[in-house]
Parts: sequence; C-alpha cells; structure tokens
Amino acid sequence: MAHTSVPSWALRPQRQPAGPEAARAWVLTFDRESAPETWIRELTSADVPHDVLRLSDASAEEITDSVTRLTAEATVGGRLLLHGPVAEVLTARAAALDLGFLDGEILVWTTAVETIPLFCVHCQHQFLVQARIDDVVPCGACGTELVIYYHLSRRQGSFMGFKHNAEAWPPHKPADSTPGGHPRARMTAGVAA
Ligand SMILES: [Zn+2]
Repeated sequence: MAHTSVPSWALRPQRQPAGPEAARAWVLTFDRESAPETWIRELTSADVPHDVLRLSDASAEEITDSVTRLTAEATVGGRLLLHGPVAEVLTARAAALDLGFLDGEILVWTTAVETIPLFCVHCQHQFLVQARIDDVVPCGACGTELVIYYHLSRRQGSFMGFKHNAEAWPPHKPADSTPGGHPRARMTAGVAA
C-alpha cells in the first residue's frame, strides 16, 4: 500500500507495450547502447504515425526543451514514449506532465535504474546518485545525510530524500528486528525453507 507511488519501471528495467490505440506517437530515446526497436515494430505494425528523437547525450534542459517543442504539435490521441535510463525518463515525464500530458498518454521503457535523481527536501537541491530506496546518501548541496524514501515525485521527476534519523520521520526497521517485519525480509523468507 505504501509502495504505490513508485512505478515498477522505476525500480527495474521494464517496458510498457506501445499499444495500438495511439493516433500519433513520439518516441524519445535517451539510451546510448540500444534502440527502442520493439516499440517501433509495434507502432509500425499498428500503422501509428511516429517520430523517433534520439537524445542520448541531452542535458535535463535539452530534454525539457524537446518535450516542450513536441507538445506544441501534440494532438488528441498523441502518445509520448520514453526509452532509456530512468533519470532521463523521469525528467522527460515530469516535463510532459507539467505541459498537460496525462499519465495514460506517457509510456515508459526503462533500460537502467542504477542512477536515480534525488530531491533533498531540506534544501531543494536535486542531483543524480547511484543508490536505491532505503540507502543513506549525503545531499550534494547541504550535506545532510538523506534516506531515500519510497516515494517518487511526479512533478519533480525524482525520488525524495529526508534527513536520516529525523524525529519527524519514522525510522526504518532493521531487517532482523521482528520476524518478517521488513518487506524485503518477507520476500526472501521462503527461500531457505
Ligand atoms: Zn540538501
């Protein structure tokens, strides 16, 4: 229940199907090594007109600019398909949502999830870090030790970091504190039996 704000494609590489119902599609790829071939095949066989934009070395500003330009020509039934590492995908998705795209009009294919964007709630600094949920990392600006919380901000396009051991935030239980008390402990509990 507490996990609903993080889509599964942000936690592991995953592809949503392109779907045949789009009237038009824009495929944005941020990946250096692979192309979104499966999507292009799906769109081609469904006769969906589509453009492919390669943005593998684009900065966050360039990604936002591209999404903004393409939104100007977007029409009803248009779909935005985002392919690549999760940080770039989240940047493009946040820009698209800000410009009025709906969740259902944005499809995602993540190819890597090791580097994530993290937003420090204490100083509003956003930065990239190689880490996972529950890890503790220092904020790149204010130095606060941040716990990466299980929440993905749609508008920021980033995970949220809260001060480690802050009284206002319930501390995470150690995995061995109570039998099955931690979600990950439960997931692995059956293996030894
Ligand atoms: Zn900070």
